[in-house]
Amino acid sequence: MKVGIPKEIKNNESRVGITPAGVFELVKNNHTVYVQSGAGDGSGFFNADYQHAGAIVLDTIGQVYAMSDMIVKVKEPIKEEYSLIRKGQVIFTYFHFASSEKLTQAMIDRKGICIAYETVEDEDGTLPLLTPMSEVAGRMAIQQGAKYLEKPEKGRGVLLGGVPGVAPGRVLVLGAGVVGIQAAKMAAGLGAHVTILDVNMKRLRYVNDVMPSHVVTEFSNEFNIRKHIKDHDLIIGGVLLRGAKAPYLITRDMLKEMRPGTVIVDVAVDQGGCVETTRPTTHENPIYIIDDVVHYCVANMPGAVPYTSTMALTNVTLPYILKLANLGWEEACRRDISLQKGLNIVEGKVMYKEIIEAFNWQA
Ligand code: NAD
Repeated sequence: MKVGIPKEIKNNESRVGITPAGVFELVKNNHTVYVQSGAGDGSGFFNADYQHAGAIVLDTIGQVYAMSDMIVKVKEPIKEEYSLIRKGQVIFTYFHFASSEKLTQAMIDRKGICIAYETVEDEDGTLPLLTPMSEVAGRMAIQQGAKYLEKPEKGRGVLLGGVPGVAPGRVLVLGAGVVGIQAAKMAAGLGAHVTILDVNMKRLRYVNDVMPSHVVTEFSNEFNIRKHIKDHDLIIGGVLLRGAKAPYLITRDMLKEMRPGTVIVDVAVDQGGCVETTRPTTHENPIYIIDDVVHYCVANMPGAVPYTSTMALTNVTLPYILKLANLGWEEACRRDISLQKGLNIVEGKVMYKEIIEAFNWQA
């Protein structure tokens, strides 16, 4: 199969759909890989690296789309790319259709085969192509939180690890899912005292089993949250209710209970956030302050570490890319139920009722 890797043209997106290692595997399986010149620059993978792995580097995005049976990307196609997609062409990427009627209509009109990373689902209900980005964001949340706790960054001036003779900082993690556990692990590694809350006892039992004793689990309820926000320096929001808006676990009035310079990193911002005062920010302007509380609410945190994120993404997408290339999309999706769940739009037909419902369309 001919597989195309265009350069991402969405604002501030430096990730790329595949690493040179991924190209190497595809070429080994007798596929042809076209990479747009400069596609991997932002992630630290250059044309020569791709050529060395066996790819053919093409000058323009138009050439990549025109010559490929399957396009592998990171973000959804944007307006300039719509007309490049043709009937029957496979597009394998993050789409998040329910958040854009314009994109959905465009993909219906172009009659491509849209397989969305975010709906590929394992038998146990986990989303294997979303997990690595949550891992990146969870770990980054502590890095960013530690930075904004510094006084020149408007934080309390607390060093998370403390020093001999001075108690460490305190980190409150809301949600013990992928983001929450990675955040707790990083904070614990720095020597911080960590409190992690969830409503799922299975998750809390797991955390309790695997984490060191300075990571303390508690059940998530308003009483406990109100108690802990008073004396924790850094609060991480990692709550998710599948397919729904995140619940506000921290309401506006609670900010007054926190000490000045407390930092909130609301990773759940992409689902509306679990803090009432959360609004999306960007890497250019990541924070704002309300009631002396620093809010960091960047909606695409992994975009800041494209080298790591691109590799983490290819690690999980490559087995599916290989299946699609080796078997063709129909046979690959027939044999692999997880991949089948990724089929969102097939030659103009929407496969998910949730997408139709999101826009109040007639089924
Ligand atoms: P997950 O499903 O693994 O974990 C969510 C956890 O929240 C679950 O353990 C669940 O039991 C818990 N939860 C639900 N209600 C709760 C409550 N009332 N109190 C405490 N915990 C509660 O999800 P995840 O992969 O960790 O993702 C978390 C959020 O981070 C999602 O919204 C995801 O989209 C987002 N995210 C954001 C970025 C970013 O760049 N900002 C990147 C990756 C993921």
